[in-house]
This record gives sequence, structure tokens and C-alpha cells, in this order.
Amino acid sequence: MSSSSGRLLRGWLCGIVCTGITGCSLGGVDGSSPESGLHPRSSREASSVEEPGAGVDAARIVAADAHAGEWLTHGRDYAEQRFSPLSQIDERTVSRLGLAWYAELPTNRGIETTPLMSDGRLFVTASWGHVLAYDARTGRALWHFDPKVAKDYGRFACCDVVNRGVALWGDRVYAASLDGRLRALDRETGEVVWTVDTRLNDVDAYTITGAPRVVNGKVIIGNGGAEMAVRGYVTAYDAETGAQVWRFFTVPGDPALGFEDETQAFIAKTWTGEWWKNGKGGGTAWDSFAFDPARNLLYIGVGNAASWNRKVRSPGGGDNLFVSSIVAVDADTGRYVWHYQTTPGDHWDYTATQHMILAELEIGGAPRDVIMQAPKNGFFYVLDRATGELLSADPYMPITWATHVDRKTGRPVEAPGIRDTEVDRLIVPGPSGAHNWHPMSFDPDTGFVYVPAKVSSGVYRDDFATRRRNLIWTPNFDTEKMIAVPDEVPAEARKAIGVQAASGVLLAWDPVARKEVWRVDRGFYSGSGVLSTRGNLVFQGDLAGRFKAFAADSGRELWSYPAQGGIMGSPISYSLDGVQYVAVAQGWGGESSLPFGAISAPQGMVNISRLLVFALDRRETLPVVETIEQALPAHGLPKATIESVKAGRALYNQYCAFCHGGNAISGGIVPDLRYRIEALHPIWNAIVLDGSLATNGMPAWKEFLTAQEAAAIEAYVAHEATLGHARGERRVVRR
Ligand code: CA
Repeated sequence: MSSSSGRLLRGWLCGIVCTGITGCSLGGVDGSSPESGLHPRSSREASSVEEPGAGVDAARIVAADAHAGEWLTHGRDYAEQRFSPLSQIDERTVSRLGLAWYAELPTNRGIETTPLMSDGRLFVTASWGHVLAYDARTGRALWHFDPKVAKDYGRFACCDVVNRGVALWGDRVYAASLDGRLRALDRETGEVVWTVDTRLNDVDAYTITGAPRVVNGKVIIGNGGAEMAVRGYVTAYDAETGAQVWRFFTVPGDPALGFEDETQAFIAKTWTGEWWKNGKGGGTAWDSFAFDPARNLLYIGVGNAASWNRKVRSPGGGDNLFVSSIVAVDADTGRYVWHYQTTPGDHWDYTATQHMILAELEIGGAPRDVIMQAPKNGFFYVLDRATGELLSADPYMPITWATHVDRKTGRPVEAPGIRDTEVDRLIVPGPSGAHNWHPMSFDPDTGFVYVPAKVSSGVYRDDFATRRRNLIWTPNFDTEKMIAVPDEVPAEARKAIGVQAASGVLLAWDPVARKEVWRVDRGFYSGSGVLSTRGNLVFQGDLAGRFKAFAADSGRELWSYPAQGGIMGSPISYSLDGVQYVAVAQGWGGESSLPFGAISAPQGMVNISRLLVFALDRRETLPVVETIEQALPAHGLPKATIESVKAGRALYNQYCAFCHGGNAISGGIVPDLRYRIEALHPIWNAIVLDGSLATNGMPAWKEFLTAQEAAAIEAYVAHEATLGHARGERRVVRR
């Protein structure tokens, strides 16, 4: 949270004597390396150093820079800067970086975790909410907790069955699982201390994919589900007992049932119609939080509205608070303090759940305590974090939905007619956003924010049939359904429009000068979360399985590691016994790799779920991944009518494509139906309608589909199989 105070004095940690069996987590922070550039920030911080082994508490997280060898909370500190003061690995030494150890993770779906490191142990989550602990020096497995989520609960997950990490407090590990449970685990054994069901009810499609935070002895957690019609809220639980302390609803409920508090009555005035019936509001806080201990303010990033279409949920208009907002609440009571709404009356899935960073910036010649966010809508916001006052909002990626943000009103000025979605309307960014969940990073030395940004677009149209989305969401590689690209779409965005996929950009943004400093185009293989370090380095992986380091000041690529499989997770750095490590978890899936699997990774790459840990001069090697190549076989199913194929394609895109892939081409995590379409024929209805594979994660669809519609989907998949066979398509799978 400090300002760009530059390089500080050298060598203060050299003489620290460490005790405890897990050793000194500070030893490598560290003046001990000749390459080290880390120096003491102040004597105050030096005196705040505690002995490791005492458990994580507020003082230890607040003084994160004095514990630079550890990574104690999701964003490393409460400011969520994701900047490591470690510098043994720097722009000169990074070429010597090699694999120190690796561990295979026990699931085969998307991995979005940020590892935490405390007292020599690394805590990592995998899909569904598995939690694993490792010896951070050697990779020796310490324990593994399986939340045993029923696989068919996966139908409630909009964007894969992912999990983004744990929280540490005292002698416990706090973790949530996809089915809405929050647990306290013993950090020595992984045994469950307490479990709470965080869901409002067991009917609505609540999920948890985010990492908890612990502030003032309270475990903070939100949930996901705004694509599935739920009402969002955030709950604080007593870390010791699991008792609920407070709950803050992000959107109002049915007025007839009475509002929970005066804030609910206030925000209900910004809604019209019967939103509690038509989408339930949404506004789920599924990922980002930040905490200002000095002001005792907890910042909540609030998601999109449900339904997406405002004409459905709030037909008389209105801003629909607090959807797509940053909301500050009192951390002890959950009482509302201020809010800033990035997208009033959201119509496009423009969540403000994206990563928020607290920092002190010099603005207009004076230091300001700010909160920064680059939400999906494409504007980079800098707000005063005491009051929510808008300081700046500038487009960091191409935008067609608004022309600018009015500084006086703090509101975006929407492009003319942008809500007229009676006809197909192509809008930039699309629901994938100009930035999705992948955490960014703030480097107080350069003063830049490194944003894992995207070029994305979407075609929106009023869709009153589903009453949830208003998007013709077709991860469909042909352009049959696309309208002509409007003239106002920048050339850069046009590149992505043909496939509606998202292409990745690593962007260095100067939040004071309010402009881009450099960018690295990551192509279609979108980038992972980001880490920056005092070694003048920015680390980022990508879906092509490359883990890279760039110079923080210039963006020059300095190091690249071939990781065999796609990387989405967020890197961290820690230090033990004088050795700096960089850790990152890999595993395909998530919001882009499932639907866009076929193009989100290079041909022939398979999914690998693994934890990778790097250090200087280490030479561990990855095992050979044995694969086989398969040809897409011919099938003997009868040729369907064009009408049936067309109907099947529309249904497939609505119900199946998000997991099984656009054009029925799977990314390899969920079965590619084309390869077995003939064998599936006799059991198609049993699987698709009756849910005979529900325990494998394929839910029953009879609530949504008739037998005739299921047959149309089968006809469409068979049609795509015929085309793929004619193309001579082949795939590579793990042996
Ligand atoms: Ca959403």
C-alpha cells in the first residue's frame, strides 16, 4: 500500500535468527543473495516481524512486506497488490530459473487457484474445491482434503467447476467448495473443524468458486450464480466457530417479504417491475474483495445483473443497485458505507467482480489512497477509497458500448441505441469482458498495473425465451448468425469478432498518467493471472502452456518455460532458506477454455492439472506425457434434415456449447461427442434427458428439452461429426 518509494536500504534481514521446525520464512527475503535488491522499508516494519509458526493473524498480513518470504492471503496483502518484494530472481538472473519441483493435482478440470505459503507449507486448491498442502521446499504432499461435491452440482457452475484458493488464519485453513460449503480445516492435518452451508436455500443455483478472505477474525465469502438466477450476498462468519456474524445483500429481495435493512429499501428504489421473480437480481460477489485496515472498510466487487436483459428484470429502467458496483462496507458489521457503480443498469454481463487493488498514488500533486479496478466493461477506474469519489475512468481496451465516463456525474455515457437489442447487436467487449477473473498486479516501483486483459465481443439480442441472458451466445465458428460488424468497432476488436473468442493481452497501465505503457499480445491463447516482483519482473502463463517472465518496466520477454499444458492460475513468489521460489498451478478449463477449447490451446495439447514451483539453477524435469492420436471416425447414423440440424445447432449453442465446445468441438476436458456419436445413439435420451451420467457431471435436461429437441441436438452433433470426418480431423488425448 505504500507509494513508489523506490529502492530502499539493503540487507536488514540477514541477521534474523529463526526458530521453529518449519524454519524461517524470512531467511530468503533477503539480503543473503548477492543479486538481492531487497532493503528495509522502515525500522517500524522490521520491529513488526514475528516468529513464524505463530499462525496467521491481522498483524502478519498487514505487515506483508516484513513477511515478504510468505504469501499469506489471496492477493498477498489486504491491498491485494500481488507484488512480491523478493528480488533474488530478477531481470539478470531469471534466465537461470528452472523447475524445482512439481506435483500432480487430483482433478482434471479448470485450475484457477492462487497458492498460499506460510511457515514452509504451500496450500493449493483444485477443481470442485479440493485442498492440498505441500512442503514448500520439496513438494512432499502433507495432506489432501476432498469436499466430495456431487458431480451433478457442476450444472450450477456457469464457467467450470473451478476454485481460486484458500485463506489462512490462526492454525486453520479456510476453503469453500463448489456446492456452497465453507469449511475451516486444521492446517496440520486438513481435518474439518467446522462446515457451514453458505447458501440462502438449496433450490437456487448457488456456487462458490472464489477464495475466502479473513479480516478481524471473520471469514468473508460470497458466491456465484448470476447466470442462473440467484440473489447475491456476502457473509462474514466467525473464524473460530463458524457462526454467522453478518450478511450483506447486494441486490434487494421481494419487497412484500420486507427488506433486511434500510440499505435494501434504498437500493430497491433503483429497480422496477418484479425483479425478484425475473432473475432474482443477480449481483453475486463471486471473486474480489480488498480490505483497508486503517478505515476498517471491506470492498466488495459485485457481479452482473440477472437476468442479463434489463427489460426482463427491471422493465421500467433503473440503475439496479448494487449490480456491477464496488461497494464499501464496515468490516465488522457489514453496514453499507459507499458504492460506485461501474455499469448502471447492466445489460451485458459487465461484472465489477474483477480484482481490486488498493494503493497510494500521487494524483494532482497530492497522495491519494485509491482503489483500482479494470472491470469487464473496459474502463480502468481509480477511486478515492475513503469516499468512493471517481478520480479517473479511462478505456484500457476497445469499447463500443459507451463513449466515455462523465467525470461530473461519474456515469458512463452510453453509445446511442446500445440497448436496442430487438435485433442482433454486436458489442465490444462481450460477456467475457475486457478483463475477466484473472488477477492483475500493481508494482509500487514502476507504478504500473499489469492487467491480463482481453479483446472480446458478443452478440446480444432480446431473448425472452430463457429470460436469463439476452445474448445470442454462439461460440460458433461460422458467422451465419452474425450481423455485419458495425463501423465503430476498432480494427483490433474485429480480429476477435469472427469467432467471438477472446484474445489475450498483457497490458501495463499507468494509473496516474491514465494510459497504456506497454503491451504484449498473447494471441488467442489467453493469459493467466499476473505476479510482479521487485526483480523488475512480471510473470504470466497462458493457455498454450507457456509460463513467461517479462521486464516490468519495458515488457521485454526475458524467460519462457514450456509447461506442457494450459495455465490459468495465478503465480506467487515465496522464499525459504535463502531461496526465492515462484509457484503457479496449471490446468485448462474455465470461462474460455470450455466453450473455446478447440482454439484456446494449440493443436495436440492435452489438459494437465499440476502445481509447478521454480527457483534459480534448479533442473527438475517434467514427466513425458504419453498421448495417442485418434481420427474422427465415420458414423452410420442416418442423415438428418437441414431443418433438424439448424434447430439442433441453436439448442446445442444454448444448452451444450458452454461445456462441450463451439461447433461441437470439445477442448478435451469434457467429452467430444462427435467421436462417439454412433455409440451414444442408443443411450442418448437416457443421458441427455434422464441424467444417467449425472454422477459423472452430465445433468439431466428433461426439464429444459423435449425428446424431439434432444434428437435435434443429436442430429446436429452427428452433422458436425460428418463434417469433421470429411476434414480428416484428428485429436490427441492422454494415453
Ligand atoms: Ca456473469
